[in-house]
Amino acid sequence: MADYQQILEALLRHKATYGHEVLTPAKCPEALQLIHNNSFAFISACCLDRGTKTEIIWTIPYWLSQQVGHYDPKQFYPMSLERISFLFDRLPQKPRYTKAAPRTFQEICRIVVEDFSGKAENIWKNRCAMDVKRTLLSVYGVGNGIANMTLIMIESVYDITFSDIDYTKMDIKPDVHTLRVLYRLGASPSINTDSAILAARHISPSYPGAIDGPLWSIGRNWCHPASADCGSCPLDTCCEKVGVK
Ligand code: SF4
Repeated sequence: MADYQQILEALLRHKATYGHEVLTPAKCPEALQLIHNNSFAFISACCLDRGTKTEIIWTIPYWLSQQVGHYDPKQFYPMSLERISFLFDRLPQKPRYTKAAPRTFQEICRIVVEDFSGKAENIWKNRCAMDVKRTLLSVYGVGNGIANMTLIMIESVYDITFSDIDYTKMDIKPDVHTLRVLYRLGASPSINTDSAILAARHISPSYPGAIDGPLWSIGRNWCHPASADCGSCPLDTCCEKVGVK
């Protein structure tokens, strides 16, 4: 039986060792810089984050900017869906939902320009979490998981604390890494989304989403699919290593 308290402590210890940059890995430093200097790059990448490798998602704004020479929502705004689809077609690596992604991009762009004066940071500036979430959920393709993940990312990247978040209801947004780690820890009985969400709620009942980043980081850096580097993993002492040879 997994020791949830030990796992939680180890995960939070690990979380304290890295900056938010770890959660937004990109394929080149320029892409990372764009994400951190341009709030529209940040929010559009968050909205596109659906089943695609993290490095690709956080690099898409940079690749788009390379094609058009800017990453300004006001300049993207007049573009037709066909034109945006054309830009997405020319990306070196594409998001998983190639048909849906241009529409998602166009909608978040329209919302930023029409409702937030072209400044993406106005989506969360001086607004409560529930209003931010409502805005995010109005974007085509953005569901509860992405909206919650984006709220968590906004808090982390922009150093904001939303006062109205019921953190007990902020679940993880499981991906292949978190699913695998929770299973190997012995916290999740199987590798599937529902079990992983439940496991995270057991480990961190006051704020399940708080362990999303550290779980992901462990999966990406130590708990690889084919080889688990348990000896140097921060969870070594509290992990049941289920299925690890
Ligand atoms: S690398 Fe090993 S110790 Fe770390 S989470 Fe995976 S199985 Fe557990």
